[in-house]
Amino acid sequence: MKKIIDGRKMSKDLLEEIKTKTQGLKDKYNKTPGLAVVLIGDDKASGVYANNIIKKCDAVGFFSEKHSLEQNTTENEALDLLDKLNNDEKISGILIQFPLPKGINENKIKSYISDKKDVDGINPLTAGKLYSGLNTFIPCTPKAAVKLLKSTGVELRGKNIVVIGRSNIVGRPVAELLLKENATITICHSKTTNLEEHTKKADIVVSAVGYPNLLKGHMLKDGAIVIDVGTNVVDGKLVGDTEFDSALEKVSLITPVPGGVGPVTITMLLENTLEAFLKQWELEL
Ligand code: NAD
Repeated sequence: MKKIIDGRKMSKDLLEEIKTKTQGLKDKYNKTPGLAVVLIGDDKASGVYANNIIKKCDAVGFFSEKHSLEQNTTENEALDLLDKLNNDEKISGILIQFPLPKGINENKIKSYISDKKDVDGINPLTAGKLYSGLNTFIPCTPKAAVKLLKSTGVELRGKNIVVIGRSNIVGRPVAELLLKENATITICHSKTTNLEEHTKKADIVVSAVGYPNLLKGHMLKDGAIVIDVGTNVVDGKLVGDTEFDSALEKVSLITPVPGGVGPVTITMLLENTLEAFLKQWELEL
């Protein structure tokens, strides 16, 4: 359908590019980017996501390792593992899956990951660099959302963009990235009194909430673009934050769920891992 921004197609094309680059690096330097995925506890969704990442690493020719730690892992054990990975030459990037079990301090774990390997931008140091306009890793989901938006060719400068959600991992970094594109940003959140008042005026809406059917067609301006980051399971089916059918009547373009931001997010993880690898070894493509 014409109005759909196809994340699967974008992801497939980007994976091909990464695969070609990886083969080129192997031929030229006999080295391969490596990603470590760290899973602590028994969160089912995280386990599925981790396996999916490992498969994608295999597909592009990356080295990868999955570290699954027990639910009763102590904070020190988790830090020990990070210490090893921070110092392991084979590992260019580290991805930690959240949520962590109770008793492990999330901020401590985030701060411990080497900023050279922080490919999902979770260390406050990495985030600080992002907000200071310094070169750093851009968190994967915000990077995917902005990449999909830019793929439409729409001019972002001067546009009114509403970002719904203010989390450190999605909403805020999305707003920051779009601010860098010279758009005018409004951030809405759970305490926003009249969401519709804001979304109705927006040329572009990025929704990162996790609430099905939050954004309905009547809340959108004619011809708006919607990037739906939300993921929710309703009656066993994955859906976004948008009431898709009513939104489709109003929008000029929209990302579907599934098949929008999700597939591109994993690709951005691989892209960031490749970037970390090149920096680590001071190599050029
Ligand atoms: P979060 O729970 O940390 O943040 C949700 C945000 O939504 C909060 O800032 C909150 O203020 C806001 N919010 C809650 N209710 C609201 C309402 N009624 N109106 C307006 N704002 C409201 O979640 P998160 O980690 O930022 O993730 C957001 C969504 O994106 C989730 O559905 C998550 O599953 C999804 N997600 C998708 C990907 C992907 O790759 N596709 C990656 C990460 C997160």
